[in-house]
Amino acid sequence: MAEPLLEVSHLAVHYGGIEALCDFSLQLEEGEKVALIGANGAGKSSTLKALAGVVPFAQGSLRYDGMDWTHQPAWKRARAGLILVPEGRGVFPRLSIAENLQMGQMGRSDPAAMEKVYVRFPRLYERRTQAAGTLSGGEQQLLALGRALLTRPRLLMLDEPSMGLAPQRVDEVFGVIAEMVQAGTTLLLVEQNARRALELCDRALILESGRVVFSDRAAVCLASPALRAAYLGE
Ligand code: ATP
Repeated sequence: MAEPLLEVSHLAVHYGGIEALCDFSLQLEEGEKVALIGANGAGKSSTLKALAGVVPFAQGSLRYDGMDWTHQPAWKRARAGLILVPEGRGVFPRLSIAENLQMGQMGRSDPAAMEKVYVRFPRLYERRTQAAGTLSGGEQQLLALGRALLTRPRLLMLDEPSMGLAPQRVDEVFGVIAEMVQAGTTLLLVEQNARRALELCDRALILESGRVVFSDRAAVCLASPALRAAYLGE
């Protein structure tokens, strides 16, 4: 049988004496969509950052695309398609929208791909010479997603993509995410709007105080009144 696209085994993340994540294991098949949910401070961002190589593994290992990636730096992971769109979007406010998008090409020049992003996001095209910091929060999120598209993600990790956005913008952001996954991108999604994340994803992991307390199909989570009350605030 083919190896999964990603296999994390017994990952731990520490910040000094703080154990942010403990014994985290996950296998992701190509094209799978997994929601990672849990309260503030549960360790969701730390999980994504460790997989992206932005914070180190205190313990554990990472296999990706059939190889050991545990000790590979963030830039190599990004080049290989392991892409994180961080909370707060990671947009460079003083650079223009076009320059922010070019960063997504990571040194490649692919005008056709740029054009596709501009066609998908006409507002970014209209304002391409303006500083990204002049965009609204929702537009900056679309810029971050547009840039992520240009990186040719195989595994896209999104940290709170709808954070702080007006409902209409949330719909737009989820629409773009849905298009990306329909195109076959594998997704690991951290989202405060847990219901929407679960409706989009196949599987769910719930973290509590740095440990996985639930791992099953998203539909199982949605069907459980106890889990809905505890983690969806319903
Ligand atoms: P949130 O939704 O609030 O971002 P989260 O589930 O993403 O929460 P993390 O940000 O991964 O959680 O944080 C997990 C734990 O690690 C928390 O106790 C947090 O305070 C701690 N932590 C996170 N980043 C750091 C850091 N740079 N230095 C020290 N502690 C940190």
